[in-house]
Amino acid sequence: MLELYPWQLTQWTQLLAAIDKGKLPHALLLSGTEGIGLEHFAACLAARLLCGAPGKTTVACGECRSCILLKAGNHPDLNRVIPEEEGQQIKVAAIRNLKDYIHLSSQYGRYKVAMISPANSMNRSAANSLLKTLEEPPGEALLILVSHQPALLPVTIRSRCQSIIFPAVFDQVAQEWLQSRLGDCQEIAEILALAHGGPLKAVQLFEAGSMEHQITLLADLTESRSKGTDPVSLALKWQKIGILEVFSCLLTVFSRMSRLKLENLDDNSDKSSIIRYLQALVKGLDLVQIIACYDLVKENYFTATGPININKQGLLEDFIVYWQSLIQIREDKIQ
Ligand SMILES: [Zn+2]
Repeated sequence: MLELYPWQLTQWTQLLAAIDKGKLPHALLLSGTEGIGLEHFAACLAARLLCGAPGKTTVACGECRSCILLKAGNHPDLNRVIPEEEGQQIKVAAIRNLKDYIHLSSQYGRYKVAMISPANSMNRSAANSLLKTLEEPPGEALLILVSHQPALLPVTIRSRCQSIIFPAVFDQVAQEWLQSRLGDCQEIAEILALAHGGPLKAVQLFEAGSMEHQITLLADLTESRSKGTDPVSLALKWQKIGILEVFSCLLTVFSRMSRLKLENLDDNSDKSSIIRYLQALVKGLDLVQIIACYDLVKENYFTATGPININKQGLLEDFIVYWQSLIQIREDKIQ
């Protein structure tokens, strides 16, 4: 039986109340940080609407014919639209098929549910085609749009969906869930911060060794500050980690450094190795410099994920040279 993640109960309660009152809208836009479980929530909602014997608060019974068909992945009243290949666009033909499907009667006399994920992958023609369905929705049908980047959706689409937002979670509920998944991991709060508050992403990052990568980067930033390091060699080393992983980790590093600077958490009792590195790095910089580093890393990250073939070595070297120039400024000020 499908179970919700514990940090999703507020949104679930809100939708259950709408279902009970018969006021579920025709289109929902689920949005939130990566790894917050949007697809899973959408699957739970679809299961609840299609289930033949749903309980008052449970997701779906898990045993009726409808639930068994869902589990097998071939329920006739659920349609899931995804890109043909990961990272590709959702094209207009897929949305036209979806429109044909959603206007047919439900085979089991309940809802017809369609999921589009990630909704921001729709190209312009696909989005225009969907707009007509959103303007004239069929009866007992629900469209669930899922997106980690809702800002990339046309305003006309967003304004016709009820928005359900899943904020990033850093609290005890998320940490306890994560601890139950990661067993003896000692730095749950750190890995959750690295995942920008997406617990499922945190599991992925932990398994991919991102904690070690972050510690390596912090050690390298520290060393290049105190001794001076050859940017070419360091960039070559970072290339082995992977440019996106490096910039993603650095985004977390500078975001946390700016928070430490603002909160002046010098006497923080949490003495994880990451906190110790961050506290030492923060000391020699002012807030403007930390934010400038964050902005540069963000810009480089988007350049690295963009459509143009980039010089990875050059992009990494640029950042390292900039980082070292901040130390130079600091030393000049001291003299
Ligand atoms: Zn059921």
